[in-house]
Parts: sequence; C-alpha cells; structure tokens
Amino acid sequence: MAKIIAWAAQGAKQPLARYEFDPGPLAAEEVEVAVEHCGLCHSDLSCLNNEWGISEYPFIPGHEVIGRVVAVGEYAKGVKVGDRVGVGWTAGSCMHCQLCLGGNQHLCRSAQATIVGHAGGFADRVRSHWAWVIPIPEGLDASTAGPLLCGGVTVFNPFIRHAISPTARVGVLGIGGLGHMALKFANAWGCHVTAFTSNESKYDEAKRLGAHDVVNSRDAGSIYSITGSLDLLLITANVTLDWNALLATLAPGGRMHVVGVVVEPIPVPAFALIGSETEVSGSPTGSPVDIARMLEFAARHKIAPQVERFPMSKVNEAMAHLEAGKARYRIILDPDF
Ligand code: NAP
Ligand code: ZN
Repeated sequence: MAKIIAWAAQGAKQPLARYEFDPGPLAAEEVEVAVEHCGLCHSDLSCLNNEWGISEYPFIPGHEVIGRVVAVGEYAKGVKVGDRVGVGWTAGSCMHCQLCLGGNQHLCRSAQATIVGHAGGFADRVRSHWAWVIPIPEGLDASTAGPLLCGGVTVFNPFIRHAISPTARVGVLGIGGLGHMALKFANAWGCHVTAFTSNESKYDEAKRLGAHDVVNSRDAGSIYSITGSLDLLLITANVTLDWNALLATLAPGGRMHVVGVVVEPIPVPAFALIGSETEVSGSPTGSPVDIARMLEFAARHKIAPQVERFPMSKVNEAMAHLEAGKARYRIILDPDF
C-alpha cells in the first residue's frame, strides 16, 4: 500500500506538520477513502490540546470527511470503489455487541474514534470500517457536506431520540459549528427557534440561519426573560454557563440536552428537575443509520453548513482561526498535498 500523507501533531498543543506513514494492508472489513474535503470540528482542537486526556500522538485530526472510496477490503459491504462517501467521529465498532446489533453502534463500548488512536481525515486518505462509511445522497453538495458527518448528526439526533415535536420551542446555545447547523435543523423541523449567543455580531446572522429570537447567553437578565418557555435547550458551547438561569428557561417537561463538551461538572439542583419534571441529558453523534437519515433530511430541506475554506496546508492557521472564535461557522479543509 502506498504511504498515507497527513497533517500530524507529535504532542499536545504542538503545531501540525506534514507526516507520512505506511498504513499496512487494508483489513478485510475496512474501506479506504481518498479525502476530498474535511471539516474542522472543535473536538479536533480539543484533542490536539489533549483537553480530554484521551489523545494519542502522532495525532492526525479530521473526522468530517467527504471523499471517494478507493479500496475495499475482502469482506467490506455496502460501498464500492468510486462511491462518494463520508466518515464522521466513529471509524469502527465491534458489530457484535448488543448495542451494535441493536442499532446503537455509536454507543458500542469498543467503538473506534476516527481521531483517537486512529489516523483521521487531515490526510490524502483515511480508513474506516465499512459500516461507518456513509454514502452521500444525491442532492447534497459534497464540497460543504463534511460537517454534517459529525456536527450535523450530533445536533440532529436529539430531535429524533427525544421525539421533539414540530410545535416545540427549541433553544440553541452557542452559534458555532454545531449551533448554526442546529438552527437550520430546528427551523426545518418546524420549531420555534431561539438562538443563545455571546456574540452580538451574530444576532442578525442567527436569524438568517433560522432563529426567530435571539438571547444573550452571558446575560442572566436576557436568559430569565424567557423563563419557562423552552421544550428543548441544546447546549453546544463547551464552557461553564449560568446553569440556574438556563434551567429556568425550560417549560414543564422540558429538556436541557448537552452536546458541547463542558469540562466542568454541571450543577443541577433537584428542585429544578422536580418542580416541572424537567430533564437533563446528553448524547454523542449518532449511529450509521442516524447519520444516513440526517443526510437525507438535509438533502430534502437543502440544509448545508455555512463554511469557510482553507487549503489543508494552512491547517495551523485554520486551527488558530477556530480557537479565536472567528470561524463562520464551520471551517473546511481541502487537501493540497
Ligand atoms: P465552535 O464552532 O467553536 O462553537 C462553540 C460555540 O460556543 C462558539 O461559537 C460560541 O458561540 C460558544 N462559546 C464559546 N465560548 C463561549 C463562552 N465563553 N460563553 C458562551 N458561549 C461560548 O465548536 P463546535 O465545533 O460547534 O463544537 C462545540 C462543542 O461540541 C465542543 O465541545 C465539541 O467538542 C463538542 N462536540 C460534541 C459532539 C458530541 O458528540 N456530543 C460532537 C461534536 C462536537 P457564540 O459565539 O454564539 O456565543
Ligand atoms: Zn466533531
């Protein structure tokens, strides 16, 4: 097999540099994908900096891949050479545990993350188990679809899993990569949508992206002004927030659902749950079927991430742009090896 050329960091917080490695023979159930585009998720940045303590080096980020299948293992199913596909946060699961057999492969205890102990998509090629190589439906623009593979399914899945009604009032906190896609999905779902942002320059844009109202996520008065109104509040930021004020926005039976990796524990007073039967929950990405259904929904409703493009050779600048909070709203890297 030809060497894979990638962008890799040799340690936490180190710059990414060009890196070549021999991937060895393709495993029987693996698929190799030539990367055409790859989104830059905040999880790539958090893993680069080893914020979660799980990173392995050399670290090759990239888990919002769009590309073409260039090789399939002997027992790979569902895709063939030449197919346009995507690979997201997960590049493999055992496929025989009860979670996998039950359709919850993303919860498999031995799931293989694409960028942890595995070479990610900031490369000319990436490998994945066939089940996690998702065909891209006609009608989706492949050049912007990458961010749907991780960020997109992460904010879409809560609507499915928690049976959010189209008459629901939905809040989205943090209008970044995940949050801006959540505004589009929630609006297409039919919901009343409130954007919570800490950045005044995003107020008008949030409305253009699908919000009906905007709340300042760092101003308690602004948050309390919608007390008791939300059926779902989706947290996509990864920072400590005014949790008491945010829990107070929930309507009776409402849910605060956390997908942003907030590192500090979130305090939840019992009375906040008891008094109005509210719930607090979280979730990771989604199963291969969840991803496929989300892509179909996005194609039908013409939902595409709003992106900024960098050549992959400018990956360090792209990381810095994301870290500075300047991305509008998702960065996509295009390989230029
Ligand atoms: P992002 O593009 O950087 O967006 C994060 C947003 O959080 C920012 O745009 C900002 O929105 C808000 N924010 C940042 N600092 C803030 C502060 N001090 N106060 C209030 N709001 C603040 O990141 P992303 O790629 O969307 O990822 C978001 C989080 O989701 C990350 O933790 C990532 O690791 C995680 N994630 C989880 C999953 C999962 O499976 N659960 C999947 C993908 C990503 P405003 O400017 O609007 O305030
Ligand atoms: Zn991600």
